Amino acid sequence: MTLSEALAALGRGDTSVSELVASLWRRIEELEPSVHAFVSLGDPEDLVRNANSLSQRPLRGLPIAVKDNLATLDFPTTCGSRILTGFRPPFDATVVARLKAAGAQVQGKTNLDEFAMGSSTEHSAFGPTRNPYDFDRVPGGSSGGSAAAVAAGEALAALGTDTGGSVRQPAALCGVVGLRPTYGRVSRWGLVAFASSLDTVGVLARSVRDAALIMSIIAGHDPRDATSLPLPSQDYTQGLGEDLTGMRIGLPREYVPEELSTEARGLVERWCEAARDLGAEVVELSLPLTEYALPTYYLISSAEASANLARYDGVRYGLRVMGERVAEMMAATRTAGFGREVKRRIALGTFALSAGYYDQYYGKAQRVRTLIAREFEEAFAKVDLIIGPTSPTPAFRIGEKEDPISMYLSDVFTLPSALAGLPAISIPGGEVEGLPFGLQLIGPRLSEEKLLRAAHALERALS
Ligand code: GLN
Repeated sequence: MTLSEALAALGRGDTSVSELVASLWRRIEELEPSVHAFVSLGDPEDLVRNANSLSQRPLRGLPIAVKDNLATLDFPTTCGSRILTGFRPPFDATVVARLKAAGAQVQGKTNLDEFAMGSSTEHSAFGPTRNPYDFDRVPGGSSGGSAAAVAAGEALAALGTDTGGSVRQPAALCGVVGLRPTYGRVSRWGLVAFASSLDTVGVLARSVRDAALIMSIIAGHDPRDATSLPLPSQDYTQGLGEDLTGMRIGLPREYVPEELSTEARGLVERWCEAARDLGAEVVELSLPLTEYALPTYYLISSAEASANLARYDGVRYGLRVMGERVAEMMAATRTAGFGREVKRRIALGTFALSAGYYDQYYGKAQRVRTLIAREFEEAFAKVDLIIGPTSPTPAFRIGEKEDPISMYLSDVFTLPSALAGLPAISIPGGEVEGLPFGLQLIGPRLSEEKLLRAAHALERALS
């Protein structure tokens, strides 16, 4: 059942929150030992009890899962890291507060790559999450716990975060819908910072309608986030149901590279046909800077991460490993508290920002970022939306990508739009090697309404 179907059934009196919670918890008991989507879980009896007072609100007391890098009052917030051991935020993130105000309840916190750095959810201090379609495979990342929970029927919907693809790629690998909003459209207040100029909060859901519904609740200006756009939210479910008449959709050559399997290429062709059948015109175009997105992203995101993660010093949060002097305590705490991938990024970012290299690396990456954004602007003067795969392959095996570069390459199609701050969505696009394969749509800034409308039409045509 989707969230929207559950709400409709509740409205008709065909089911109750207690029945829905019981069915989610049956899935959790059956699958969590294999999937491990959650790092903490609420008490189903509490959820049922508290739902009574929420029955008049839009979300009627239904449970929602939240990625564990979003601050919550009712649960610890770990970011999948040992360094936050024992940390409990004294506030809810704005997105969590808005969902609660709309009548949702947090059912638990989902697993992630440590500080959201990764594409597989293997880099969590609490162990990996597994793909519900095949327990030997990754669910994608870093919002792998959120995607797996939704795919496994353990959650009706979940919040995730997308810095360079962490909502869209796990959605693609787990066969669910993943929406990344325009940078600034959804408040980052209470999202533990990874790369502040790229971080966004997004939605993982079982349908485009559900993603639109949750987006309508969490979007809108927040004075507590300095980069929040000064615009109210809107009802994104409104335009759903229309076809694609009059829309121009661009297929970039660079998003269908040689390396893509024949099966995957076949799917891309099918998507374009479906779009044409729905009234759209599909045109080929080129985004030649695509190949520069990866090095640009890893320089900028690691530089920002090295600054953001400086605050975990053994004094202010969570873990403290004692030493003779303060500097030794800090070094011991960070050595014990951070995992390998996080240390790699801090080292890379610190180097990229160091005196004498700043302009050569960080400065240059910022200039390339501007060119990438400009290239998208030029494309969107010609087309309404861009289509392509979300990820080059379906879910890979746990342990398969040991070398960091091969892992980073799974983000080639999600990084460029992230650098440009654009909204994008992944929807189930069929199967490759018998596993889910995601269709990505990218739109210009603040085009969420059009993006969701097109995704909804394609979702129906492809299901
Ligand atoms: N996989 C990318 C990275 O490792 C993106 C992560 C994200 O979006 N949080 O940085």
